[in-house]
Amino acid sequence: MDLDSKAYSKLIHAHNSVGGSEEYIRIIVAILPLAERHDHETPEMWCSRICDPFRKILEENPRILSKNGYITMYGKLYVDDRIHNRPTNYIYCSVCNSLVFTPANSLFEDRYGDNHLKRCISGNTISNEHARRNEILKSIDTREFQIWQYKQYILQEEAKINRLQLELSSQSTPHSEKDKLASVSYDIDGNFTASYENYAQSKAKDTMPNAPNFEPAYILPTRQEMILPTSYQSSSPSQRRSEQEITSKIIISSWYAKQNNLLPSIDHLNQPALRLKDENQLVDSEEQVEKLRCRIRTISSRKNSPERGNSPDLYNPNINLEMATITELANAIDGYLNNTTIGREILADQIKRATRQIRRKENNLHQDLVREQRRRYDAEAERDNEIIRRQNAEGVEQMVIADLYQLQTNARN
Ligand SMILES: [Zn+2]
Repeated sequence: MDLDSKAYSKLIHAHNSVGGSEEYIRIIVAILPLAERHDHETPEMWCSRICDPFRKILEENPRILSKNGYITMYGKLYVDDRIHNRPTNYIYCSVCNSLVFTPANSLFEDRYGDNHLKRCISGNTISNEHARRNEILKSIDTREFQIWQYKQYILQEEAKINRLQLELSSQSTPHSEKDKLASVSYDIDGNFTASYENYAQSKAKDTMPNAPNFEPAYILPTRQEMILPTSYQSSSPSQRRSEQEITSKIIISSWYAKQNNLLPSIDHLNQPALRLKDENQLVDSEEQVEKLRCRIRTISSRKNSPERGNSPDLYNPNINLEMATITELANAIDGYLNNTTIGREILADQIKRATRQIRRKENNLHQDLVREQRRRYDAEAERDNEIIRRQNAEGVEQMVIADLYQLQTNARN
């Protein structure tokens, strides 16, 4: 077999399960140390160190492996005094015998390495180059969408700051005038930021007037078929709007977490040796994703219920993110418990790690809550101060008026 991500899953599964094939285990034990980048090593240095031994392994196991395969370079991530190995964007491919940069945005994107290998084996250089370019453009688009989301959020915060500053500087301007000056609106589309559609529209607007380097022949097909978490709902945007878009927002949060390696993917943590991803588990994880979607729908319908009204909290992306993460962690634990192939020790270790993450998330949520409360107290205190200031001002005004009357009376007498 070609050494792609599927083959790796098989080898790793053999390594992790009791009574796994000796031959498979020997291969994976030989390959895994090669994946680790040494300290101070550039990707090129890593590549030139591992390429020969890697190819030797492929050549020495013809019963199991073809000579076609790739190996991903792993870097180190330090968290809480612990070192985790993380896949980088670099692979070494035995077919083209070169170091290749893949546009993967997260841990979960083996497909870029697989696609490269497939393309290398097929050898069709022209269509391969198109496919490669499209992958990179897609990956850029994904990142830009994230930046756009952040920018929307920043713009809202800036509007709030402007409104507060107007409140400090001018008491005589009418409230609605100040709202207008600060671009504060009370009809907020809470889903705007989450929507890929809106991002795509604003991007189209931005790029249309000056896009001399655009090559529509390459780009258009990809852009159209790009399925991001929101777009599967966009067939009839006017219907089912709010419920589904809030759902999509939360999905995006968890999707965002994945993109940024925030989710503790226990399969991928620590050593690549612990990566378990055979067919069964893929089915399992698909089921779990479906369960997760279901739960998210429940959460979002709760969030939509009238008791919360137009609560501005709807707009706190952190809370959505943390909630989605916690749900996924809980699902992950369920998954481990259902998986009978994992050894007891590994199982215990994985569950411990997941519960530790949950505690951390819970702590984050608690801190968010405290911060939110403080923010409200501050806002209330600020409002009280404002009232007192106004009352003082009115008091002074009345005293002046009273003095004026007194003076007039005195003058008349
Ligand atoms: Zn290659």
